Amino acid sequence: MQDYRHMTNEAIRVGLSNNASSLKKLSLLTYKQLKKYSIPSVYKLCAISKAVGILASRRKSIRRGHLTKDPYMKKPILVSCYSFKIVNGRLCFPLGEKQFEFIPLNKHTLRMLEDQSLKVRSFLLTETSLSLCIAKEVSELNDLTGAIGIDRNLRNLCVGNQESVTFYDMSKVVGIGETTKEVIKSFKRNDVRIRKRIFSKYGERKSERVKRIHHIISKNVVENALEKKKAIVFADIKNIGSMYRKGNGKGKDYRRQMNNHWHYGEIKRQIEYKAQWSGVPIIHLTKSETRGTSSNCYICGERLLSSTEETKKRQLWCKKCEKWFDRDLVAVMNISRRGWLRFSQSKGIGREAMVSEHERRDEPLIRIVDPMKLSSESKKGG
Ligand SMILES: [Zn+2]
Repeated sequence: MQDYRHMTNEAIRVGLSNNASSLKKLSLLTYKQLKKYSIPSVYKLCAISKAVGILASRRKSIRRGHLTKDPYMKKPILVSCYSFKIVNGRLCFPLGEKQFEFIPLNKHTLRMLEDQSLKVRSFLLTETSLSLCIAKEVSELNDLTGAIGIDRNLRNLCVGNQESVTFYDMSKVVGIGETTKEVIKSFKRNDVRIRKRIFSKYGERKSERVKRIHHIISKNVVENALEKKKAIVFADIKNIGSMYRKGNGKGKDYRRQMNNHWHYGEIKRQIEYKAQWSGVPIIHLTKSETRGTSSNCYICGERLLSSTEETKKRQLWCKKCEKWFDRDLVAVMNISRRGWLRFSQSKGIGREAMVSEHERRDEPLIRIVDPMKLSSESKKGG
């Protein structure tokens, strides 16, 4: 590993002094120089490509106007994408002179690797850890039956379409944030260092718990989409952001809560990569497609009216359909519908199938999920 580090650093030096940053140029320049290292030549190639990566990120930060020192690799690591094998539950790689190193893999990794569609592309070894880089051939679902929209509200994440809607109750996550804040407030000692330490301790604990819930929800969303063969539709997030900025008529506190406690962006990111991993298509509505998703009727498109009555506060009225709609439902219905409309048109899937779906069920099935309970279920399951 030390050799590997030295080789990479040497390659970086060569790259810097010759102003070479392409893989080809750098290999030609450095390969001979690296001869003095008595380790298998595959690692030399990897060291050079690592150096190329480091040089590339340096160029990027220069372009962005950050000051950079001459880069070098600090920690000893070993990266290779060649000549390693996984045999009998162990990672096996050559050390040169017909010697091999074996590293046992843990149960979880082995279980993951049982999936035949996975390929191990490379490994990364540090002094304390080993990571495998795996690639998966994913074929996108092609027999989709519709789409589900995703929308966020203050205390829930709303996922669904005409057939069924799931509310993921986020009030507990909001709660975690609020108790953390109170706990931190309750420490009265006026010492900046201690405050800082307490803040980071509780802040960390909070973000761990919130992160776990985010993972559970995003996993659940993607699994459901996969099972029902639905694409996932996101509204234009910039537009959503502006809804919670000043001037939305909802007050400072509402916006603060919205922005602080649970991170739609993080859940979105997780849903996106988990969906990619399992081949569920993602549809992003454009800004103009997002417009009106929360204020127009999802059946006839008429602009909905809000009520002044206290009991109908969360309801919207459509004068064409002569019906009340739940405020939280309207957006997710529109999002899923619009996303699917565009997607099915671009793929040439008939629109009729969708219309009949509408007629079959006017009222969606509603499910309210407590992510905390989901978490205990998934723990029981293994
Ligand atoms: Zn209507």
